[in-house]
Amino acid sequence: MMTMEFLIQGSYFVAAMLFILGLKQMSSPVTARRGIVWAGAGMVLATLVTFAVPEVIDSEHAVTNIVLIIVAIAIGGGYAWVTGKKVAMTDMPQMIAMYNGMGGGAAATIAAVELLKATREAQLDPTGTITIADRLGSDVTILAILGAIIGTISFSGSIIAWAKLDGRLNRNTLLPAQHIINAMVAVTTIGFAVAIYFSNDLAPIIAFFGLALVLGVFITVPVGGADMPVIISLFNALTGLAVGFEGYVLGNAAMIIAGIVVGSAGSLLTHLMAKAMNRSVSNVFFAGVGTGAAAAADGEQGEMKEIQSQDAGILMAFASQVIIIPGYGMAVAQAQHKIWELTQLLNERGVTVKFAIHPVAGRMPGHMNVLLAEAGVPYDMIYDMEDINADFKNTTVALVIGANDVVNPSAKSDASSPLFGMPILDAIKSENVIVVKRGRGTGFSGVENPLFFADNTKMLFGDGQKAANELIVSVKELG
Ligand code: NAP
Repeated sequence: MMTMEFLIQGSYFVAAMLFILGLKQMSSPVTARRGIVWAGAGMVLATLVTFAVPEVIDSEHAVTNIVLIIVAIAIGGGYAWVTGKKVAMTDMPQMIAMYNGMGGGAAATIAAVELLKATREAQLDPTGTITIADRLGSDVTILAILGAIIGTISFSGSIIAWAKLDGRLNRNTLLPAQHIINAMVAVTTIGFAVAIYFSNDLAPIIAFFGLALVLGVFITVPVGGADMPVIISLFNALTGLAVGFEGYVLGNAAMIIAGIVVGSAGSLLTHLMAKAMNRSVSNVFFAGVGTGAAAAADGEQGEMKEIQSQDAGILMAFASQVIIIPGYGMAVAQAQHKIWELTQLLNERGVTVKFAIHPVAGRMPGHMNVLLAEAGVPYDMIYDMEDINADFKNTTVALVIGANDVVNPSAKSDASSPLFGMPILDAIKSENVIVVKRGRGTGFSGVENPLFFADNTKMLFGDGQKAANELIVSVKELG
C-alpha cells in the first residue's frame, strides 16, 4: 500500500512538473506547441493515476467507479476532440469560454457532492447537533464553499460569455439597477454560505448554488463587448482557483498544483489584458463598455473617402515603409496567407513591411500572432503596440485590415468615448491609412471610429481576402 501511495503521489508530482514546464514553454511561439503537448501529457498521467486511487479501486463500488470514469472520459474527451478539431480560429474564444465554464462547473460539482455527503452523515447523528463543518472540519468546509461559489459563478458566467461571443445573446443587455441587484444577490449568496457552515440542512445548499448560478449570469450580462477577453481570462483564473480549493478538499495534490498554476497564470493574464486596455478589472465589471448607452455617445463624423485596390496597391508599392495592422476581420476573411504574399511582393520591391499587433486585436489573446505564424510571417516582422507606435510617423502607408477598435483615435482624444483611455495603435499618424473592411459598420465595441473619416484615410471596401488578393494583383501589374 505504501508503494502504491508513493506511486500515486510521485505521479502527481511529475504531472505537476509537466504542467509548469508546459506553461513556461507556452510563453514563446517557438516552443508553444511543445508546451501544450507536455501539459497534455501531465493531464493524461494525472487522469490515469486516478484509476489506482484506493477510494476508486478498493471500494465496494469499484466497478461502478471505473465504468463511470471511463464513460466521463469518453463523453468529455470525445466532445472536446470533435469540437477542437473543427473549431474555426474565429470561434476559438467561445470554445475557451465554454471549456473554462466546464472546469468551474466540475469544481463546483465536487464541492456539492462533498457538502451533500457531509449533510447526510451529519443528519444521521442521533443528537442532531452535528454540523457540516463538524463533519468535514472547518478548513475543508470553508475551502469547499469558496471553491463552490467561485466555480459556480465561473460556470454560469462563462456560458453567458460563450453566448455573447457566439452572437446568441444580445451584447448590449444591461438590466436597470443591475449593479445593485448584483450586490444584493452576492450578499444573500454569502449569507447562505455561512448558513451551510453552521447547519446540516439541505435547503441552504440548494439556495446557495442556485443564487451563485444567478450571480454568474448577472455579473457577466452587463460586461461590454470590448471587455469580453478580460472577463474570459478572469473566469479562467477563477476556475483554476476553484479547482485548487477542491483539490484541497479531496486531498489531491495534482488538482491543487494545476489549479494554482491556472489561477495564477489566469490572474496575470487578466491583469495584463486590463492594463493593455488601460482599465481596472472592477471597471470592466461595472462600466459596461459597448452597451447601448455607452455606444450612443457617438455623433456625426463626416465623409469616408474610398480608394480602389489598384490605387491602393500603387501607393503601397512605392512606399518606403508599410505597417500592416491586422484585426478580427482578417481572421474572419482568412486573409493572412494573402497578406503574407503581399508582404513578400512589397519586400521584393524594397518596401519595409512591419506588422503591428494590439494586445486585444481579434477575439482572444495572441489571436493575430497565431494567424500570422500560421501563414509563415517571421516573428521578427511582428511588433507589439508599445514597440511600434513611435514608428507610425515614419510610415508611408498603414494598412488596417479587419481592425477597428484597436486603431480608434477617440480612445485618446475623446473623453466622452467609451473607449477613452484604452491604448491604441497610432495608425492615424501615418502619411496614409488604408482601411480594408466590408462596410461602414462599427467594431466589436459598437463605437464609431473617427479614423475612417480622417483626411489621410482611404477606405478599401470589400472582404479582407478578396481585397488582399486585389492588392497582390495591383502590385504584380507594376512588374
Ligand atoms: P473589431 O473592432 O471587432 O473590428 C473588426 C473589423 O473587421 C470590423 O470593422 C469589421 O467591419 C471588419 N471585418 C469583419 N469581417 C471582415 C471581413 N470578412 N473582411 C474585412 N473586414 C472584416 O476588431 P479589432 O480591431 O481586432 O478589435 C478587437 C475588439 O474585440 C476589441 O474591442 C477587443 O476588446 C475585442 N475582443 C478582443 C478579444 C481578445 O482577446 N483579443 C476577445 C474578445 C473581444 P465590417 O463589418 O464593416 O467588415
